[in-house]
Amino acid sequence: MTEHIHFTQAPEIRAATTVRALFQALSLPRLEQLSLAAHALNVPRSWLLAHDLDTLMPQQIAAVHSLLTRRIAGEPVAYLLGQREFYGLLFHVSPAVLIPRPETELLVDYLIHYAPNAGRVLDLGTGSGAIAVSFAHHRPDCQVYATDISPAALDVARTNNQAHSDGRVDVRASDWCVAFFTSEYTNYFDIIVSNPPYIAADDAHLQQGDLRHEPIGALTDLADGLQCYRAIVLQALPRLKCSGFLVLEHGWQQGDAIAQLLQAAGYQAITQYCDQDEQGHSRMLVAQKP
Ligand code: GLN
Repeated sequence: MTEHIHFTQAPEIRAATTVRALFQALSLPRLEQLSLAAHALNVPRSWLLAHDLDTLMPQQIAAVHSLLTRRIAGEPVAYLLGQREFYGLLFHVSPAVLIPRPETELLVDYLIHYAPNAGRVLDLGTGSGAIAVSFAHHRPDCQVYATDISPAALDVARTNNQAHSDGRVDVRASDWCVAFFTSEYTNYFDIIVSNPPYIAADDAHLQQGDLRHEPIGALTDLADGLQCYRAIVLQALPRLKCSGFLVLEHGWQQGDAIAQLLQAAGYQAITQYCDQDEQGHSRMLVAQKP
């Protein structure tokens, strides 16, 4: 395990035997350095503060070096750590799922607050299970269902379901609502929620930052960004109870276009929630089945 000692490396990296020397040679934000090194060495971050001048074994140095250089090459911290905090819970993540975003916590807030007692809630395109699992964690009275079309994402969602909601979320392979097309699920759900892929195919952000490493099918519809909403808005309607709610996350400029889709499909009480994300944009729409 000495592949890190490579002749093309700068002398200070080749000579590094301590975490501090690696941190000085491989420039990254402090918190990222500490998180990645702590993960590589399987120690708490606090340990590193006291031991960053300890001489480590070559394989330990190699492990830290590997994670730091992968980060410098662009891999997201969450994938390197295999986890990301969301709604106060530590979610397992892999490159098969979108990394949970803070703005999505707003949907969970809504569900926890408004789901009726013992209600039925369905999360479409659950990915890591962030929405369904954190909701089920806080509302054990409810019956929670989650779908995804990706088998690899379903594995991640099931792991998180076991870790945080005692396996209570009914996780199913499905293209949106297709697993619920049978008559027993007509007028069945109190709330259907989704954070679908909504980035337009020609959006330059897909080639930038963490997004380059996330599953393309979780980010974009490969069209105008509204294609998944067209399907969800129509499929959800017959499966919602009368007066049930559809709750959608959307991109910061998509609210009006999706409100029009909802109105055309016959939803009522269409509400855009304002000033929600870190930039102050509206990112969530709620609409009611008449
Ligand atoms: N919220 C993600 C982003 O803006 C996109 C995820 C999605 O399409 N649902 O990077």
